[in-house]
Amino acid sequence: MKMVQCAGCDRPILDRFLLNVLDRSWHAACVHCCECKCNLTEKCFSRDGKLYCRNDFFKRFGTKCTGCSQGISPTDLVRRARNKVFHLKCFTCMMCRKQLSTGEELYVLDEKCFICKEDYLNSRHNQ
Ligand SMILES: [Zn+2]
Ligand SMILES: [Zn+2]
Ligand SMILES: [Zn+2]
Ligand SMILES: [Zn+2]
Repeated sequence: MKMVQCAGCDRPILDRFLLNVLDRSWHAACVHCCECKCNLTEKCFSRDGKLYCRNDFFKRFGTKCTGCSQGISPTDLVRRARNKVFHLKCFTCMMCRKQLSTGEELYVLDEKCFICKEDYLNSRHNQ
């Protein structure tokens, strides 16, 4: 019998249960996310030969939030403004920190700074 080597720990796989990931064989216990070390029993994502759980994969390689520059996972709620994407919690007025909703009037100051209408009017007033 040909000995199968685990792609994770390089030890032979003697158990009956092995997983095929990235066209290689793994001990079930060796398939874990390289970031949070959680066991990947169902779906896993890979990039450059490394394995990631869904969350960490999207954190790393997914669309980035314009506000905090962190990745956006598919389960995160997002807001869009122009062609930028923000976490719901990052979509706030930079003056009063009020969370803005889609469709609410806002004034973009530069790439990722925007203020609510109220603050915009106030700042115009004070100049
Ligand atoms: Zn292994
Ligand atoms: Zn993970
Ligand atoms: Zn964010
Ligand atoms: Zn505001």
